[in-house]
Amino acid sequence: MSVAPPLRLRLDGAALVSNWLWLKQRGGGAACGAAAKADGYGLGAREVVTRLAAAGCRDFFVATWAEAERVADVIGDASLSVLHGFFEEDLPAALASSARPVINTAAQARRWREIGRPCDVMVDTGINRLGLLPAEIAAGALDGLHIETLHSHFACADEDVAMNDEQRRRFEEVSATVPAKRRSLSNSAGICLGPDNSYDLTRPGLALYGGIPRAEAAGHIRQVVHVEARVIQHKRVEAGDAVGYNATFTAPEPCELAILNIGYADGYLRGFSGTGAAVHDGRTLPVVGRVSMDLTAIRVDAAPDIAEGDWIEIDFELPRAAEQSGLSQYELLTTLGSRYARVWS
Ligand SMILES: *Cc1c(COP(=O)(O)O)cnc(C)c1O
Repeated sequence: MSVAPPLRLRLDGAALVSNWLWLKQRGGGAACGAAAKADGYGLGAREVVTRLAAAGCRDFFVATWAEAERVADVIGDASLSVLHGFFEEDLPAALASSARPVINTAAQARRWREIGRPCDVMVDTGINRLGLLPAEIAAGALDGLHIETLHSHFACADEDVAMNDEQRRRFEEVSATVPAKRRSLSNSAGICLGPDNSYDLTRPGLALYGGIPRAEAAGHIRQVVHVEARVIQHKRVEAGDAVGYNATFTAPEPCELAILNIGYADGYLRGFSGTGAAVHDGRTLPVVGRVSMDLTAIRVDAAPDIAEGDWIEIDFELPRAAEQSGLSQYELLTTLGSRYARVWS
């Protein structure tokens, strides 16, 4: 007999597909891929890939060969690229896979040339994270490779800064010299910047999953992840009573509280202490005191119908939850823990 998990993520498959369609349209004529690394940003990579492939997505991105393996049987004949390239010990898995490495270094390029299979390439146009430098490419580092897609990656596409234009300029300059079948530059925020940045293929992640990387996406991108916890105990505290570790909340008057079975081990991190909320019948029920590992207290005076055992939705609308917690929308998604049942509709 297996016990049902006491927490759940309600995942809205229609919203996921709707977000992908909006990003595809916003990308103009470019193909729209999907970044499904970090287990599909915490939602479950297999479920994400299955749904987006059914909607027509043909290009997926994961970070590692272990992540590639986990989606191998749901990827069908869509393209899968492994963003970190490869280490020598990945080669058996890479050679057994239909996925391609994204070559990031001159040494990876030399090794992959011996193997003679197609690959993608990342060129570093200013983020100074992964990728070959334009100078290495000019010196012949990519000669002899069969390149499907030449990628670069924005450092600041969520901001209006001159660096975006500079990265695009460098990308155009270097890509004119590289015989790749396709070019790809934009993540979610880059797509929002406008179709000039989309080239042949885009690589959205965050916005697929409900994140709003820039104002242009607001009103178009739908919430995908709904976090639900249960009321273990309903209680009343009196004026002057303190709540939770370190007694950071003292009741100013008698308060009705519900103790929920969610905490920082579930990615509901301590940044939500005193700032987060649950939502119930359109009412906001604020978190009081510290979030603990497995438990969080909310004030339920405004919802007298709440009872022990009830399921309660946590306010996890990503831009607002980011503001409440001080975490990025990315962190909010990718730290969701393993104690949830992930329930797709
Ligand atoms: C994660 C990642 C993406 C997706 O970025 P979002 O900001 O989540 O849209 C795209 N490209 C690369 C290289 C990445 O690492």
